[in-house]
Amino acid sequence: MIVPDDEAGIRAALREAGESLRKDEVPVGCVIVHDGLIVGRGHNQVESLKDATAHAEILAIGAASNALGGWRLSDCTLYVTLEPCSMCAGAIVLARLGRVVYGAADPKAGACGSVLDVLGERRLNHRAELTAGVLAGECGELLREFFRRRRRAVLRLAEAGGLAGDEPGADPAGGDSGA
Ligand SMILES: [Zn+2]
Repeated sequence: MIVPDDEAGIRAALREAGESLRKDEVPVGCVIVHDGLIVGRGHNQVESLKDATAHAEILAIGAASNALGGWRLSDCTLYVTLEPCSMCAGAIVLARLGRVVYGAADPKAGACGSVLDVLGERRLNHRAELTAGVLAGECGELLREFFRRRRRAVLRLAEAGGLAGDEPGADPAGGDSGA
């Protein structure tokens, strides 16, 4: 698939995020583009793989390095739906990614200017060019919808749990007689 511009890159990353959503994972997706072509894809799989490091960017960097036969991704652009965390920003520096484009900012864990600024840190030996906020609304809405759904599920579970506690099959009179 040809990726002509940043919006197309983030749209491809959004499709990856959809894969996370289908697995009931926090929906974050990433693609890495080289010469206009996607060479690596990743979506958040922390729960499925039971691995705290299974973030979309880490998986995409691994896939792109495999596809290109080398760990230096200086000629590549990484597109991700959510501002990278400190682990992923660190991996972006290590992989020497030339450019990073993200969708929604992450005020709680973002390490590309929100909480930390790993990509802009002048004491590090590599700095990736950064473009923030491409299709930020769509990227953020996907996450908000996921957390809304999850809160509803937790509420439903709590309600079901309350009913289970009452043991609907049991005869209340029987309970009383045991007291
Ligand atoms: Zn991360």
